[in-house]
Amino acid sequence: MCVAFRYAATASEGDARRLIAAPYSRVPRSEARAAIVAAGSRSGVADVPAARDFAVALKTLVSTYRTQGSTARELLRATRLAFALDDGAGEGEEATLAWLDRTASASDAERGGAAWDASQVATAFERIADELPPSQADASSRLPLGPYAPEAPAPVQKPRSHYSASSLGAYAACERKWYYRYVCGAVEDKGSSASFYGSAFHWALEQFHREFQRADAAPREVLQNKLDGWIQTAFERFRARFETAVEYELQTRRARRTGRRYLGWFLERSRAHPFAVVAAEAEVELEMGGQKFKGYIDRLDRDDASGAVTVVDYKTGSIAENAGEYRERIAEFADFQLPFYYWARTAAGDRVTRLALVPLKDALRDVEPVELEVVPVAVPAQRWSTATTGTIGIDELERARAKMIELARRLSDDPLDRFAVTDDPDACTFCAYRRACRNRPLRREERFSA
Ligand code: SF4
Repeated sequence: MCVAFRYAATASEGDARRLIAAPYSRVPRSEARAAIVAAGSRSGVADVPAARDFAVALKTLVSTYRTQGSTARELLRATRLAFALDDGAGEGEEATLAWLDRTASASDAERGGAAWDASQVATAFERIADELPPSQADASSRLPLGPYAPEAPAPVQKPRSHYSASSLGAYAACERKWYYRYVCGAVEDKGSSASFYGSAFHWALEQFHREFQRADAAPREVLQNKLDGWIQTAFERFRARFETAVEYELQTRRARRTGRRYLGWFLERSRAHPFAVVAAEAEVELEMGGQKFKGYIDRLDRDDASGAVTVVDYKTGSIAENAGEYRERIAEFADFQLPFYYWARTAAGDRVTRLALVPLKDALRDVEPVELEVVPVAVPAQRWSTATTGTIGIDELERARAKMIELARRLSDDPLDRFAVTDDPDACTFCAYRRACRNRPLRREERFSA
C-alpha cells in the first residue's frame, strides 16, 4: 500500500516495478518478471502489452490522486478497487485494510482539507505499522500482502484462432521464443528504430501503390515526388517512436534514398515486363487442413502479357542473399511467409508464378530482389551459386504447407505446457528475449567463460 501511495504521487518507474512484482498486483509472478525483463532499462513495465490491466490500475491511482479535492481515504479506496484487495481477503487482511482506512481518515481529518502528499501518508502507514504491538504486527495483519500462494501449473491458454506464417516460423525456430512473443506478449523494448523504419517504409509504399498501380501512370519526376512525399509523411507519423531527433532524421534520409532506388527498380522492371500492382497490403485468409491462417501481402503484381501473378514481400531487415539460400530457408521451415501467400492467392484463383523478396535495407545499393520462379519440379539448388533468381518446385511449397498445418494442429490440439528452447545457439544471437531466456543454449566459448 505504501508503494501504491508513493506511485500515485510520483509515478516513478521503480515503484511501478515494485508494485507489479508484489503478490497483490494481480499479475502472476512469472508474467510480472517477464514484464520487468521485457521493459528493460528503456521503457516502463506498464508499456508492456501483457501488463495492460496493471497499467490501467496504475493510471487509476495517479488520476485519483490528482483529482482536485481527493482525499487519502479515496486514494486508499481506489487502490483497493484497482488491485481487488478486498476480493477473497482473509480475516487478518480485512483487519489490516480497516486499520489502513482508519489511518487514512485520520490523516484527512488532520489535514483539514489542505493540500496533501501521498508519500507522507505512505510514510505514516509505515511508521504506525512499525509501532504496532507484536500481536498486531505479524505478517498477516500488518501487511495485506500475505505470503505468495504457489501458482498451480496449468496449460497455457490457446492464444488465437488464426495462425500467421510469421508466428509459425517463430514456433518452428524456437518454441520458447514463440511463447515469449505470442503468449506473454513480451517485447525486449518498445521497438527499435529498425522496426519503426520498417513499419514506416511499408506504410509509405502501401499508400504510394494505392495511388499508382503502374509505372507509366505518371512521369518519373511525379512518381518520385509522390513517393518521397509518402515516405516523409510516413516517418512523420512514426516520429514520436524514434528515440532521438537525430535517429529520426537519419532513418528518414535513409528511407528517402532507398525509396529513389526502389522507384528506379520499379520503373526498370516495368519497362522490361509491363505489369500492374493489383494489391498493396492485401489481407489474405485461408483454411488449410482444418486450420485457419491469416496474413498480409505487401504487394501483388499482375503481368500484362500473361496475367501471371508475382507475390512481393518488402524486407527492411536482413534477408537471404541469394535465391538458393532463400529456397533452403523454405526447405528448413525457417520461412513460411511466401509459401503461404502462394497458397492463399492460388486458392483465390490467381496463377502465381513468382515469389519475390525486395530488399529495402541498404540505401547505398541498388534494389535487387531475390526471386523464385514457381515450377512443377525444380532442379536442386547449387550451393555455391550467388544468383538472386532461381526456381522453387510446387512440391517444396507443398511441404511448407504441410508443415504449417502440422504446427498449427500442434498449437491447437495439444496442451501447451512446454516450450522447448532451440538447440542452435546461433538462433539466439539476435533474439529479443535473450536476457529473459535462462535456458538458451550456450556457445562453447560462453560455456567455458561462465
Ligand atoms: S534466446 Fe534462444 S532459446 Fe531463448 S527464446 Fe531466444 S532463440 Fe529461443
